Amino acid sequence: MMDPVQLFTQLHRHLYRRTTTVFVIHCLYTVLLAAYLWLETPRSIFLTWFIIAMFGGIWHWFAGRLTLRYIGKDTLKGGSLTSDIIAAGAAGLGFGFTPLLFPYLSLTTKLAVILMLGVIAAEALPRLSALLPVYAAFLLGLLVPLVSVLALADQELGRNAIPPILLMGISLFYSAHLLHKDLLESLLSRFGLENAAEEDELTHLANRRRFDIGLEQEWFHARRSEQPISLIMVDVDFFKKFNDRYGHQEGDRCLAQVARALSRSVRRATDLVARYGGEEFVIVLSHTTRDDAYALCELMRGAVEKLGIPHLDSTLGRVTISMGGVTLYARENLKAVELVRTADKALYRAKATGRNKVVWYDPVLDENEKA
Ligand code: GH3
Ligand code: MG
Ligand code: MG
Repeated sequence: MMDPVQLFTQLHRHLYRRTTTVFVIHCLYTVLLAAYLWLETPRSIFLTWFIIAMFGGIWHWFAGRLTLRYIGKDTLKGGSLTSDIIAAGAAGLGFGFTPLLFPYLSLTTKLAVILMLGVIAAEALPRLSALLPVYAAFLLGLLVPLVSVLALADQELGRNAIPPILLMGISLFYSAHLLHKDLLESLLSRFGLENAAEEDELTHLANRRRFDIGLEQEWFHARRSEQPISLIMVDVDFFKKFNDRYGHQEGDRCLAQVARALSRSVRRATDLVARYGGEEFVIVLSHTTRDDAYALCELMRGAVEKLGIPHLDSTLGRVTISMGGVTLYARENLKAVELVRTADKALYRAKATGRNKVVWYDPVLDENEKA
C-alpha cells in the first residue's frame, strides 16, 4: 500500500501545480468580470469588489507556493487539509461575492456573470479535484452567494437560473469525484509498490528497482495514451575527484543534496526521479513534450549549480551535473530500455562538450558517434 504521507504529498503537488499560471488566469477572469461591472456599479462598490476578487486569488496562490516549499523541504508531513480548504474557499468567495452586485446590474450583465462563474468553476476542476473537500469549498464559495442572491433578492431571474446552476454544481462535483478516483488509481498503480526496499537509502529517491518498474509502467501508459514521454540521465561532474579531495562521506552528503535539488524541481505527481546507480540519476516525465522537459532540466541543472557546493578540482569550481535527455512517442516495437540507451548517448555528448549542460538526443549527432 502506498505510504499515506507520500500520497498526501503527491495529491498536493497535483493540487498546486502551476500556481503562478493559475494566478494569472485568476487575474484575467477578474479583469474580464471587471469590464462587465465597471460601467454599471458605483465606483466605491466596484473597487471593494475588485479588491476582494484579487485577494481570493492571492491567498490561493500564496497557499500553493507555501505548500510546494514545504514539499521541497520534505516538511509536508501528515499535514491537515484545513488551510487548503480555507484558501480554496477564499478563492471561490473572491468571485462568489459578485452576485451581491446584482441590484446594480442589467439582466444581460447578470447572465454574463453567472456564465463566468460557471466557467471559473469548471476551470478549477482538474486541479482542485485532487482533494475533494478543497474543490467542494471552492464550489460552495462560488455558488452559495449566487444561489442565495437569486433566491432571496432576484426571484424572477432565480426561478429560471437556480435549477441549471444547481445542476451544474452537482455535475461538476460528480466529475471532480470521478477525476479524483482516476488520479488515486493512477498514483497507486505507479507508486503503490512503494516500500522501504524500493527507496534508495542515501538519497531517499526511488531506487533502481522501482525505476525499472516505474519506467515500464510509464512506457505502457505512454503507448496507450499516445502521449510523448521524456527520459533524462543525470551524472554528477568530476565526482571521482570530489570524493578524492573531500572524502567519501562528504561525497555522500553531496549526492543527497543533489538528489533533493532534482526531486524538488519536479512538480507533477507522475514525474519519477530515481537514483540510477552511483552518482547517476534518472528522471522520467510522462506526457511531457521535448520543450517542457528541456526547460525543466535547465531548471534542475541551475538548481544544482545554485547549491554552491565547492569543488576545487572541477573546472567549474562547484558541483554541477550534466544531463542527457530524449523525448519519444512510445511505439509498439520499441522497448523502454531504448530510452535509457539514447538518453545515455546524449549524456555522453553533454560530457564531451564541456559538462554542466543539458543535451537532447539527436539521431544524426549521437548515432554516428564512436562511443
Ligand atoms: P564525469 O564528470 O565524467 O562524470 O567524471 P566522474 O568522476 O564523475 O565519473 P566517474 O564515473 O569516473 O566517477 C564516478 C565516481 O562516483 C566514482 C565513485 O567513487 C563515485 N561514487 C559512486 N557512487 C558513490 C556513492 O554512493 N558515494 C560516494 N561518495 N561516491 C560515489
Ligand atoms: Mg558516472
Ligand atoms: Mg560523473
